[in-house]
Amino acid sequence: MHNILVTGGAGYIGSHCVKRLAADGYSVTVLDNCGRGHAVAVDRASGGKARLERADLRDTPRVEAILKDHAIEAVIHFAALAYVGESVTDPLRYYDNNTAGSVSLLRAMDAAGVKRIVFSSTCATYGEPASMPIVETMPQQPINPYGWSKLMTERALIDYAGANQDFGFAALRYFNVAGSDPDGVIGEDHAPETHIIPVVLNCALGKVPKMSVFGDDYDTPDGTCIRDYIHVNDLVNAHVVVMTALNAGDQRFYNLGTGTGTTVMQVIEAGREVTGRAIPAEIGPRRAGDPPELYADPGKIRRELGWEAECKDIKQMVADAWGWFKNNPEGYGE
Ligand code: UDP
Repeated sequence: MHNILVTGGAGYIGSHCVKRLAADGYSVTVLDNCGRGHAVAVDRASGGKARLERADLRDTPRVEAILKDHAIEAVIHFAALAYVGESVTDPLRYYDNNTAGSVSLLRAMDAAGVKRIVFSSTCATYGEPASMPIVETMPQQPINPYGWSKLMTERALIDYAGANQDFGFAALRYFNVAGSDPDGVIGEDHAPETHIIPVVLNCALGKVPKMSVFGDDYDTPDGTCIRDYIHVNDLVNAHVVVMTALNAGDQRFYNLGTGTGTTVMQVIEAGREVTGRAIPAEIGPRRAGDPPELYADPGKIRRELGWEAECKDIKQMVADAWGWFKNNPEGYGE
């Protein structure tokens, strides 16, 4: 496998994957509508080696042509909208972009004879599981349209694979992706920015005067929510491991996390230590829809493919993210 299509390769996680694939010598084509991604990220990630095709996933004939033009052998599919709150207020946009977009991609792959895909799924497909850690066999009951839009894509993949024995896919269920490549040339640049680590670092930069801790009355050691943060480069490594292991007939599902839970207060504390800045934080109300704790059992992918997160240190993840934020306070400036 040499010619890879990365959908959403202009985004935060996708651009990290592009960087890794280009460094490994793959021929990388990026498909991105640049609605929320940054064209410049593709160049920075690949040193100009990856080609950017500005196209929308829902434009099936165009996607088919791109797959054929670049003789694509496998697809890594990151492209999606990913704000839980927005998915509640504008659900059809999520079903259209994420679910219908993925079905369109599958149709294009079918027409072009491309038989391998690694799909970005999410721990949001589990909803609020009754117990922790989360294992892949637990019931999937999303509590928001974002989670459903991803779960429906998993279902479409299963059914398509059932009808096409030469097809193979993996759905990777991400926990909280964090950090940046230590080179500091690519990173997270979202507008609006709602994720905890960027919020903490924007606060350190003085771009936000103070931040809010969304609830400190949860049943956790310090009362704040627990999440499983995974370094973006570990996550990307898992994609490469999975992609190279995929065979015809595979229907693989893996959690991608470290298996370690970290509280909101621990993230803020890591931010203070890494940046040496105050980071004023006040306790605010709970955010609707936040489960008290979510963390993975990442044992399945370790047992089956030998992948394990190398970075389990929240301070390291925050430090790598800080490398990007400090040097690029305006993000990509687009
Ligand atoms: N959080 C917070 N303040 C913020 C942003 C997030 O307290 O400004 C908390 C949020 O309630 C959750 C955790 O940080 O418990 C991680 O939130 P994030 O939005 O980064 O990821 P999510 O787990 O929602 O995907």
